[in-house]
Amino acid sequence: MSCQEMHELLDGYVDSELDVVTTLQLERHLKECASCRAVCHRYEQFTQGIQAHVPRFEAPAGLEAKIRTKLGLATGSGTRAASSAFADWRRWAVAASLIGVLVLTGTLLMLLNRRAGPEILAEEVVSSHVRSLMANHLSDVISTDQHTVKPWFSGKLDFAPVVKDLAPEGFPLTGGRLDYLDDRAVAALVYKRRQHTINLFIWPSGSSDSSPQTLSIKGFNIVHWTQAHMTYWAISDLNAVELSEFARGLETSSS
Ligand SMILES: [Zn+2]
Repeated sequence: MSCQEMHELLDGYVDSELDVVTTLQLERHLKECASCRAVCHRYEQFTQGIQAHVPRFEAPAGLEAKIRTKLGLATGSGTRAASSAFADWRRWAVAASLIGVLVLTGTLLMLLNRRAGPEILAEEVVSSHVRSLMANHLSDVISTDQHTVKPWFSGKLDFAPVVKDLAPEGFPLTGGRLDYLDDRAVAALVYKRRQHTINLFIWPSGSSDSSPQTLSIKGFNIVHWTQAHMTYWAISDLNAVELSEFARGLETSSS
């Protein structure tokens, strides 16, 4: 089973809706694939989150008896008043279940928004970038030498980020640190362009290669792409043109 197939089946797996054979295949994949395990863990947390946080309402005592009485009237006498009471009750029941659906949908969307989609990831990237600049914690290893920065990550991450110095292209490497994005530890490389800081976040990806996409959020420019099973997110207050140039520099130098 591929990671892609795995992701498509995960919903069904978490809700115990898959057949035995698929479940076994999926569990075998989970044993071997740390990144899918992390995704699965997130799904499970999400489900538990719903169970824990979606409000449940007990029907007030006597409601059932009241409804039965009204139903009894409606079926028993067949008077106009009784059937209109029944219609009222039905309208209330429909309204109540609609409200229930809305509450559930709203909660689902809220929880999903917290943890899914490139937009949400982009928000996380912005937060990490801002935090790194504010907290005076831009680099754990300060070096302009890629041969110092790259080995610094070994043993700290479960993958080896490609560390390129782009000084010849006008983007000198200044250091690196560990960061946390998309529910996992990631490599953060720090580059400079004049007075601008560029954070480049790298972590393994199950997706196939994708060409650079640009975004602009809260005054920051972002370029992200996937290459050779790694996801790259570059962010800076640098203008979009130069940031894309930076991304192209990395893309071409690592291929
Ligand atoms: Zn996988």
